[in-house]
Amino acid sequence: MHRGAQPMEGLLARLSPRPSMFFRVASCVPGSYRLVPERLRAMCLRYLLRGKLARTRELNFLRCIEETSLREPVGPYKATCIMTHDIETRRGLVRALRLKLVEEKYDISSIWFVPSREFRLDRRILGRLAEGAEVGSHGLRHDGRIMFLSEDRLVERFRESRSHIESLVEKPVRWFRAPLLQHHARMFRALARAGYEYDSSVPTWEPVHPVVGRAYGVNLISPMRVCGVLEVPLTLPQDHQMLHVLGLGPKETVKIWLKVANKLIRMGGIITVLIHPDYEFAGQRGLEWYRILIKGLADIGEFVITLRGA
Ligand SMILES: [Zn+2]
Repeated sequence: MHRGAQPMEGLLARLSPRPSMFFRVASCVPGSYRLVPERLRAMCLRYLLRGKLARTRELNFLRCIEETSLREPVGPYKATCIMTHDIETRRGLVRALRLKLVEEKYDISSIWFVPSREFRLDRRILGRLAEGAEVGSHGLRHDGRIMFLSEDRLVERFRESRSHIESLVEKPVRWFRAPLLQHHARMFRALARAGYEYDSSVPTWEPVHPVVGRAYGVNLISPMRVCGVLEVPLTLPQDHQMLHVLGLGPKETVKIWLKVANKLIRMGGIITVLIHPDYEFAGQRGLEWYRILIKGLADIGEFVITLRGA
């Protein structure tokens, strides 16, 4: 389907999910994200998935991709892989350096998303991550407010986050990824007004999306321009969903990711990966599987951090 074939209003409606009642209530509590430990949050998501695990693991990824109606190959390469990382905590920021070393060994660049006011951002570490790569904004705070703030308020937040990170890395911040993969029409408009070029907050498909509290995806497998920002969908389900919601190990996760990645490329899509340095892939055994993943993806496509069409 081509860009012009779907009116922008229809696309925006499709990219504006309704938050669940649980998400609405949880987002009203200031600092709730930090107060609730990650294990408890993952337990809540697993509860929402109850009884559907076996059906969800592999089958739905492939079926969802096959049924996608929004396909539009872009990019200078036949197959494009984009490696991204969201850093949730100070500990994750330190562990990010482990992933960076692996990436340098295999000569790939990635995009590191950091929240600007959630924890103290170490200028030295950020500068190191930015070498040959990009640092993007993961919001001002890691909260659920993006779904509820006005467009003007979002512009303020996005601008503040961008300029703070830019002052630390001394490079332009062009990418944005919303905490919890929140997204809606106001957010895309606000990002464009705040000067961002790329957004990557839309999952192709997730077993339990935290905002809506159930399986959710927009079936988009390649970038698409939305309100002046190039939306780069997260085409592989993120590590948090694979490891902590579905309960898979790094080995099984990599196996499924490579299978889905091959499928995406055959269909003319791109491969977008999200790995948190806070979680298992930056652990000692996880790093081995990270290397295997990178080698496997390098056989399928070429790693890039800049896409044509921006
Ligand atoms: Zn995050």
